[in-house]
Amino acid sequence: MTRERVIIVGGGIAGVSLGSELALDHDVILLEAESSLGVHSTGRSAALFMTGYGPAPVRELTRRSEAEFARLSALPDMPALLAPRGGLLTAWDEPGAAALEAMIAAQPAMTALTAEQASALCPALRTDDVLLCGYDPSTRDIDVHALHSYYAATLRHRGGEIVTGARLAATTRLASGWDVETADGRRWQGDVLVNAAGAWGDEVAGLCGDAGHGLSPRRRTVVISRPARPVAGAWPVVADIAETWYFKPEGGAVLMSPGDESEVLPGDVKPDPLDVALVLERVNAVTTLQLRSVRTSWAGLRTFAPDRAPVVGRHAGEPALFSFVGQGGYGVQMAPTLAKAGAELFRTGTLADRALAAAIAADRLPAKLDH
Ligand SMILES: Cc1cc2nc3c(=O)[nH]c(=O)nc-3n(C[C@H](O)[C@H](O)[C@H](O)COP(=O)(O)OP(=O)(O)OC[C@H]3O[C@@H](n4cnc5c(N)ncnc54)[C@H](O)[C@@H]3O)c2cc1C
Repeated sequence: MTRERVIIVGGGIAGVSLGSELALDHDVILLEAESSLGVHSTGRSAALFMTGYGPAPVRELTRRSEAEFARLSALPDMPALLAPRGGLLTAWDEPGAAALEAMIAAQPAMTALTAEQASALCPALRTDDVLLCGYDPSTRDIDVHALHSYYAATLRHRGGEIVTGARLAATTRLASGWDVETADGRRWQGDVLVNAAGAWGDEVAGLCGDAGHGLSPRRRTVVISRPARPVAGAWPVVADIAETWYFKPEGGAVLMSPGDESEVLPGDVKPDPLDVALVLERVNAVTTLQLRSVRTSWAGLRTFAPDRAPVVGRHAGEPALFSFVGQGGYGVQMAPTLAKAGAELFRTGTLADRALAAAIAADRLPAKLDH
């Protein structure tokens, strides 16, 4: 195939992972608006790997990423990218119990637990009012920084270039490819522009004269609070099935989220004090932790396409524009497979693995991208 000059916009996990794959046989230049990489969604995640989380395409991409996480973890000087955590899901009302029962039936990795078994895993959980618990031992913590750094390093090692402080501000369509200009007036030319701008995906599409994908950036809040006594590091992540709260141990403290999804504009979002108060209240209601003070809190954007599956592929009406957006709340856990699938779609327009193609509905993607 022809070696193309590829301009990737966005240096989060999406941009660096796809860039690393494409740098094997293309000339890659990655433009990141911020002065360092990974400061937006990628640097703000809860760092969880959950094979049962998200819509079917996401679950398939996550499940398939497990082997690649293991392969990368075995590389010299690489820490274990996935560490044991376990996931304990709880249901507190009849609809929740029905949903959790269906989940347990559908997911071989998950087993139903009694309240006593759940208490043994997380002694701080008040189980008196729990109707059903399900445990997934395959839930892990991800070393997000190590994964992101690996992809950025291999992108460079394979001959690619990463430019920070380079916010794409304008594009001109040439007879072949693009001339792009950053906010500070620097310019580059490339054959294909890859939109990996996360929450800014529709903005970047707009700069390329495209209608975008109806992306919806949703704010999610994370709070870290230290209880009176340090919590055991071996607790699983505990969540209610309706995702109105979850918590897990974090260096003797508790990391938690109210599962918020407020639709906001792309930007450097901050936590809403109401969401912070809400998660303390909710976690205190279901545990004996008696959390009172906030050690730190942050918020980040989980950006969804309307069907909550990633948008990956060249635009049918504009083959010099490739989208790699809509990673939602799962962009780290599915990154290894999504980057390889994205690179294959970039090179060939199809996915040879029929099961993967069916799982991420690759045949639907060109239509989805054809405005
Ligand atoms: C609180 C929270 C918890 C989460 N928990 C998990 C989890 O447990 N597991 C999981 O897998 N996922 C989780 N996620 C989701 C995950 O973090 C995202 O799906 C993923 O980081 C998205 O990566 P990205 O590269 O698309 O976006 P980003 O990391 O936001 O990167 C996009 C980049 O594009 C840059 N950019 C934008 N516009 C321009 C421009 N014009 N020019 C140049 N650069 C530009 C931005 O500066 C940014 O750096 C969570 C997210 C949040 C917020």
